[in-house]
Amino acid sequence: MVEKCSEMYANEKLHKGYIMKKAVFSIILVLPVLTATLFAAPTSNFDDYFADLTMRVDFFMTGDANEQEITLDAVYKQGRWAGNPRKTIDDLNLGGYYAKVYDVATNRLIFSRGFNCIFFEYRTTAPAKQGVKKTYHESALIPYPHRPILFVIESRDKLNLLHPIFIRKINPKDSGIIHPESDPNDRIFDIMINGDCHDKVDFLFLAEGYTAGDVEKFHSDAERFTNILFEMEPFKSYKSKFNVRAAMRPSAESGADEPTRNIFRDTVMDASANALDTPRYMLINNNKAMQDIAASAPYDAILIATNISRYSNGGIYNRYCIFAADNRRSVGICPHEFGHSFAGLADEYFGSDDALSEFYPKGVEPLEPNITALLDPESPKWKHLIEPGTPIPTAPDPNNPDQIGVFEGAGYTAKGLYRPKDRCIMRSGREFCEVCREGIIRVINHLSNE
Ligand SMILES: [Zn+2]
Repeated sequence: MVEKCSEMYANEKLHKGYIMKKAVFSIILVLPVLTATLFAAPTSNFDDYFADLTMRVDFFMTGDANEQEITLDAVYKQGRWAGNPRKTIDDLNLGGYYAKVYDVATNRLIFSRGFNCIFFEYRTTAPAKQGVKKTYHESALIPYPHRPILFVIESRDKLNLLHPIFIRKINPKDSGIIHPESDPNDRIFDIMINGDCHDKVDFLFLAEGYTAGDVEKFHSDAERFTNILFEMEPFKSYKSKFNVRAAMRPSAESGADEPTRNIFRDTVMDASANALDTPRYMLINNNKAMQDIAASAPYDAILIATNISRYSNGGIYNRYCIFAADNRRSVGICPHEFGHSFAGLADEYFGSDDALSEFYPKGVEPLEPNITALLDPESPKWKHLIEPGTPIPTAPDPNNPDQIGVFEGAGYTAKGLYRPKDRCIMRSGREFCEVCREGIIRVINHLSNE
């Protein structure tokens, strides 16, 4: 099983992790302002600070392994706010970065949300370590403020502590804010609607590499993967808390780029296999197009169905997951990648070597809920799910594959990181383990009205 899994997920090591190099603090002078607001109480009334609309802040992240800098691209005014108005502060503590919003008039922290990004992963690659700087386009969605705000991006250091690396005052009445118009070619499908977007978790499937003639295929693919997800716990038991929609802007050509096969397709989001020079890794290159298409429906989480059969996929926390709609293994891969993008789950698989994972510095407890460095063996992260008397660390027992314990080998390394169960879709098998389910439920409860 290990061998199969290693092969299954080989070369996908770039998905997760939180190593962070020295940051460039480009706006040092503003930092004392933030220090004063650090412990400000969160907002208790959404309507006091926000309209029921979405502000999209587009920015560029530039740098290498040692430096990073953010520059603002554009600010947009979009449709209804999809999130939970009762929970504007993100206490999940996941992702390599946080977007935070402070009300200028009161210095209050009024919104926060953790996320990860392609740039975060680029920083761990060989070119980045050699000082080759690259730029990636990213977006943050926040509820539309009534009054001027400080928009802040924070980045984690090696100890996973957050530090501001970008601060910009934004006036919501600024005449430069863009009001995007919908594209007449966009198609929106309601797949499962259970209530208002404020009260429910809203999934949005997007179509990549589907031509105008593929509308029915995309609709059918989105329904098929909706069924796959909701046949699986914990989504199955929480089904009434979700809405699912699908949005499609036709691509000029079918498929996606496969550079190593010299295949290049003209598609709406410019998805490409071999992302970050990693064979089975797929990401999109056109974030602005993805955001423009997604703006046509309220959403908390994006799933991109790619109209290809090649085994190629990816998932970035609070950004999107992407999968090959026509690959038979996507039945398991789509939920696996969605575990990354929706709940910030770590990979529970590992290779045969015991090399330290560069994503997880020694002596630092990973943020993800489903792996641990076991720095306190008396009190493992998921202790409440472990049967008393279970040895810790726990040796795998082939006769008891469903045992919850603390098994060494996780997060790409055979030594020093531990997983909760020998069988979980974040490593192998067909279901999320109990610990991963708890992590997913935590996000569901954050995004929906309990
Ligand atoms: Zn798990």
